Amino acid sequence: MEALKECPNCGVEVPASAEQCPICGYEFPRTKTAHKLVGLLVLVAFTLPLLVALFFYLR
Ligand SMILES: [Zn+2]
Repeated sequence: MEALKECPNCGVEVPASAEQCPICGYEFPRTKTAHKLVGLLVLVAFTLPLLVALFFYLR
């Protein structure tokens, strides 16, 4: 069973994965994509100094 979320514009329940309300056309904020981006940035922020340190260590 798929999770539901409520459209803040018309109040209808739509699948949580829907990017747009099928009734009124309201576009939901893409929080999942944003979280992925933040996760990627955090990952880069943590691994980049490690890679740089490793690069200088191996020289
Ligand atoms: Zn709607």
